[in-house]
Amino acid sequence: MPEAAVKPEPTTKGATNFVKIPKDGSAPYLAGSKCRNCGEVYVGDREVCGKCFSRGKMDAVKLGQTGKLYNFTVVHRNFPGVPVPFISAIVDVDGGGTLKGNLLGVEPKPEAIKFDMPVKIVIKDAGRKDKDGNSYLAYFFEPLS
Ligand SMILES: [Zn+2]
Repeated sequence: MPEAAVKPEPTTKGATNFVKIPKDGSAPYLAGSKCRNCGEVYVGDREVCGKCFSRGKMDAVKLGQTGKLYNFTVVHRNFPGVPVPFISAIVDVDGGGTLKGNLLGVEPKPEAIKFDMPVKIVIKDAGRKDKDGNSYLAYFFEPLS
């Protein structure tokens, strides 16, 4: 008779594969790739550079922790249980890379949001657990003040 599977202890995971949580307890960060040939930076792992098409010349890098708001939309409708309104934003990360995520700490009204406004990238608990009790770290944007 097979032994009952031992359920692993709940843990904290990255909400995406580029949210990295170092095992040594140092601060979580967003991972990217930088092309050795042209210097372009991408979010997450890359094998091929989309700018110069070099293959196998990508180095793993930590993405910057600040950026500028490139574009946004105020979301008023979503799946049941998702609180609205919220601001879905696209941010050009200082040092390279572009992220889509939620902008917090600003009233979700277009007149309160400015294109190019400087933001910081914060990594924190996403506020929900999965069915096994695991929690998730996600990234958000907040105004840089
Ligand atoms: Zn390149």
